[in-house]
Amino acid sequence: MNDNLTADRPTFVTHLECSMTGERYEADRLHGLSRVGRPLLVRYDLDAVGRSLTRDALAARDTDLWRWRELLPVRRTENIVSLGEIETPLVPISKSAGGGNVLVKDEGRLPTGSFKARGLVMAVAMARELGVTRIAMPTNGNAGAALAAYASRVGIETIVFCPEDTPEVNVREIAVQGARVWRVNGLIDDCGAIVGKGAAEGRWFDLSTLKEPYRIEGKKTMGLELAAQLGWELPDAIFYPTGGGTGLIGMWKAFDELERLGWIGAKRPRMYAVQASGCAPIVRAFEAGEEHAERWDDAHTVAAGIRVPRAVGDFLILRAVRESGGKALGVGDPAILKAVADCARADGLLLCPEGGATLAAYREALRTGEVDEAERVVLFNCATGLKYPMPEAPNWLDRHAAIDFDAL
Ligand SMILES: *Cc1c(COP(=O)(O)O)cnc(C)c1O
Repeated sequence: MNDNLTADRPTFVTHLECSMTGERYEADRLHGLSRVGRPLLVRYDLDAVGRSLTRDALAARDTDLWRWRELLPVRRTENIVSLGEIETPLVPISKSAGGGNVLVKDEGRLPTGSFKARGLVMAVAMARELGVTRIAMPTNGNAGAALAAYASRVGIETIVFCPEDTPEVNVREIAVQGARVWRVNGLIDDCGAIVGKGAAEGRWFDLSTLKEPYRIEGKKTMGLELAAQLGWELPDAIFYPTGGGTGLIGMWKAFDELERLGWIGAKRPRMYAVQASGCAPIVRAFEAGEEHAERWDDAHTVAAGIRVPRAVGDFLILRAVRESGGKALGVGDPAILKAVADCARADGLLLCPEGGATLAAYREALRTGEVDEAERVVLFNCATGLKYPMPEAPNWLDRHAAIDFDAL
């Protein structure tokens, strides 16, 4: 019996903090970006968490996302919203798919078919807790779908803006799940500008990636989960398809919190931020040794989820990648599509293009000696491959004609 959704558990948020200046902000208030326009991070009394929750007590709970309640921001149990946020499996892939010692964390199993559910379930629960009634957000597809689903579930009104070439399935799933969705002739940051303008006029709350503090806390659960699933021993390397970078930043934060709790040691995975070479602002900044990334013009890639020309948390991504000893890596669309096809064929695991990008980057890293075949590596498949266009399957059989069974 899962009581993660219903049990009243103690919470430990002390305050929020500007990720750039360290300036403190009060908890339990509605916040967007910090005064200097940078993301706010949620801080906890980790000593108290450690006194309240042991690894054994945690192990006795159901494994869903809400088991981590003491490390999450939601204060009141009745504000929890859920569509069944399971712990996602680590699926090994074979050598023929391109793996040495590789596990794919398959986030496509989450509600709405992507890991955006992790971030949005938390952001919506907090919006509810803080009394928000109307939310707007820019999206490349999956985030909008997750927002629409959770917000509709708790009766919050949502308006979603997406680039006009957002995959049709995403636009429709957003609409059918109760949001008002608008296609915009521009990219995601152009959509973000519209959201920002409306928010400044007081029309709605801006739930853009990293512009509110709680999506990170939801995405952080990827790092918490990974540590628990691997027996509190982190992998040697993580390949993460990086758009806004919420997940990478969140995992890095999770590892830090777990170490402060004494649940893991100081060992960290090398974090590889994977981008498509048609939209690689973080890779360019990494290679140039910059702390911030300039906007990438003419962004294009089949991996829509990582088509993000500008990330407000750029410096946090770059910092985590550098501190970890990892890199930012770009991969081309042909390599992405080949990785998806190879993994599906060899291992029966259908990756999304963004997940394919991590496999393509891993293969390239093996080739260049950046990773060793024996090293334990985790790739993130962030959405179900079923949401994306697949290669044609044109065979057709006339059951009334003579059937050439040898040819089947
Ligand atoms: C949003 C998204 C990403 C990028 O995630 P960030 O944490 O925002 O960098 C990658 N893949 C898919 C499928 C996505 O929907």
